[in-house]
Amino acid sequence: MTDQLVADRDSRPRAADAALRRRAAAVIPGGMYGHQSAGPLPPEYPQFLRAGFGARVWDVDGNEYVDLMCSYGPVVLGHRHPAVEAAARSQAALADCQNGPGSVLVELAELLVGTVRHADWAMFAKNGTDATTMCCTIARAHTRRRRILVARGAYHGAAPWCTPRLAGVTPEDRANLGYYTYNDLASVRAAVAEAGADLAGIIVSPFQHDAGFDQELVDPEFARGVRSICTDAGAALILDDVRCGFRLHLGSSWEPIGVLPDLSAWSKAIANGYPLAAVLGSDPFRDAAASIFVTGSFWFSAVAMAAAIATIGALREENALAAMERAGTALSAGILAQAAERGLEVRYTGPPVMPYLTFAGDRDYSLASTFAAAAVRAGVYLHPRHNWFVSAALTDADIAQALAGTDAGFAAVEARLAHHD
Ligand code: PMP
Repeated sequence: MTDQLVADRDSRPRAADAALRRRAAAVIPGGMYGHQSAGPLPPEYPQFLRAGFGARVWDVDGNEYVDLMCSYGPVVLGHRHPAVEAAARSQAALADCQNGPGSVLVELAELLVGTVRHADWAMFAKNGTDATTMCCTIARAHTRRRRILVARGAYHGAAPWCTPRLAGVTPEDRANLGYYTYNDLASVRAAVAEAGADLAGIIVSPFQHDAGFDQELVDPEFARGVRSICTDAGAALILDDVRCGFRLHLGSSWEPIGVLPDLSAWSKAIANGYPLAAVLGSDPFRDAAASIFVTGSFWFSAVAMAAAIATIGALREENALAAMERAGTALSAGILAQAAERGLEVRYTGPPVMPYLTFAGDRDYSLASTFAAAAVRAGVYLHPRHNWFVSAALTDADIAQALAGTDAGFAAVEARLAHHD
């Protein structure tokens, strides 16, 4: 659709966003990179956002949205949560980036070790990719073997070993990976056999949340199976909890099914939007973790660590996981009822706090895009090709507005299908 057509059917102010996009096109390669680069988001989406509070966000033109993406996961308590902001402010009043860490490094490590059952130690970084990459390095240092098994199609970050795009990636970057199919133990066994004596570890996400596909919850038998395969092979079980951590459980996301990894990677929600990642590990991997060299210019920054301590405190005190579950369940019930009422065949998959909606037969995502474009015009920010995220800040009024937006989305899909009949 041309920009003009988009503008014609959209009554929201868009001028500030359009002006920033034009300027970005000159100084940012491709106008934007990563998630927001030309691709999945329909042109109705604002590129630039100005503010956020609770479960609402505002774009640079002042349009308001109920936020069902939560910054792709980091915002778990809601934007600008008072206790987290206060903790970050008081740490910032002392210092943030110094020659060495503040006391918050130890306090946060103690808190995480006390919160996550498999963890005996913690290390910190900035992004999820840092954490998943460190887990692989620690697994290799511990086992002195090379091969890491990953699920086909899974996302573990943007470094050459795991980025979903192959531009700039060499075969050597992937030479020590093997592949299995999520929830398919036979495929894991085959990949383990292929790795032979060179198996260093298996990395796995808590459930299958590959972008653009219906989500699949973990089969507990699969989780137990990969655990025992790793134990038998002396390899590391690495849980990539970057996306799910602290949304599904306050421990690691497989604690409820009783499967504990050796190493886990965390980022996103652990500091309610402040930049922080963590690697948590068990005692047998402590020496290997101490042996590798990892660091980063901002890895000691104390503000994000103070924010993480406050985030974990608030998640507990406010019973935030139960609040998210309630909000996610209400959203799910409302959305499924809307789709059924219009006779639209949809699949709404994943846990209620991280749902994903697809339309039957929508191979090119055109119905998903129609839905998302109408929803964003009606004031709800969700995503046509990526799972959504529920925050604990969603009030009944937010859910009602979100449902008004999804209903506008379904109406647009219905109109499109009628037009094509
Ligand atoms: N693992 C998973 C499961 C993720 O969802 C992500 C980010 N979407 C990453 C790793 C990488 O995290 P980051 O983008 O912070 O590097």
